[in-house]
Amino acid sequence: METMQFCHSCGMPLQSPMAGQIHGNFCGNCATADGTLNPREAVQTGIAHWLLSFSPDVTMDTAMIRADHYLRAMPAWAE
Ligand SMILES: [Zn+2]
Repeated sequence: METMQFCHSCGMPLQSPMAGQIHGNFCGNCATADGTLNPREAVQTGIAHWLLSFSPDVTMDTAMIRADHYLRAMPAWAE
């Protein structure tokens, strides 16, 4: 049985068609072609847009704050 794997940066299931090209533990949205993780701000902005896609009444500022909290729980960004 295949274990479900998630991007260590954004939490997206790596089996998802939206994950794009997989780079190790990261999806194609979070890492460049050589497997380098994108800057935190770029990943945070991507997640904010994703949050807005199903919460259209939320402002971008609020979405960025939520994305920041979200990233703190991710292995790639945990401090
Ligand atoms: Zn990702």
